[in-house]
Amino acid sequence: MQRVHRFYSDDLFIRATSVISTPVVREMCALQKTGPLAAMAMGRAVTGAVLMAAQLRDKQVVGLHFRGNGPLGGVYVEASYEGECRGWCDEPLAEVPLKDGRIDVAAGLGIGLLNVIRSQPFEKSPHIGTVELISSEIGDDIAYYLHQSDQTPSVIALGVILSPVGEVGAAGGVLIELMPGATETVISTLEAAVAKARPLSDLLSEGAGPIELLKNYTGSIPMNQAEHPYELRYSCRCSIDRVERSITMLGKDEVQNMVAEGRDSNVRCEFCGRTYKIELARLEEILASFSTIN
Ligand SMILES: [Zn+2]
Repeated sequence: MQRVHRFYSDDLFIRATSVISTPVVREMCALQKTGPLAAMAMGRAVTGAVLMAAQLRDKQVVGLHFRGNGPLGGVYVEASYEGECRGWCDEPLAEVPLKDGRIDVAAGLGIGLLNVIRSQPFEKSPHIGTVELISSEIGDDIAYYLHQSDQTPSVIALGVILSPVGEVGAAGGVLIELMPGATETVISTLEAAVAKARPLSDLLSEGAGPIELLKNYTGSIPMNQAEHPYELRYSCRCSIDRVERSITMLGKDEVQNMVAEGRDSNVRCEFCGRTYKIELARLEEILASFSTIN
């Protein structure tokens, strides 16, 4: 079973999550029909989201919306504390030239903003934080957000290994956060360990597991594992009700246009590709409900 692994140091000044996310990244890329550039960007992003979500509390969800001016357009991923994740990308087949032989995620995203949306079931509106994309490589942007919003210095490494034809060979990542009050000794020990770390892509290529990924960055610092028994899975909770609600949110004019076309509408869920058929009679009912509201 794939899951996010959670760790903490003896003195509780360091907490960390690590994960091998290969199956969910593969599934997401298959559903979204990504080319290599989007696979790399979305794979990193969703891995970052699952690492962040596992540091939250029950039922909480974190969404990361990368809104750059590059050819990928928007990239959105979300993950829950319980290990469910999903994502979409505006332009899954976008391409940019390789940079030094590597896929250039930064050019794919371009410059722009990262919105981080944190929601929990009993809150009316989610908490949204926004930072500029400082590198557009995804990992650094998440670290920048954590530092700006939570004042938490962190180390984050995200990796996706693609085959020459763009299939996801392996994906995974590590997020290490320094908690408030961490002493200079803790910080310098962690910095020294991070400085000696091998490239994450090398470890992923060798088939390393979550504990090896963590130890690559924490070195000899003793780390304990916290319980987190949730299976990591690609999961979309879309339903006909949610689709109808999203149609209502398009507004009266838009629904009027759909009715004027005089036929059933097919609405595709952007996360999972499932298509919902909304019959004309139902569209008319939705349109009528606007009139009763006003
Ligand atoms: Zn769906």
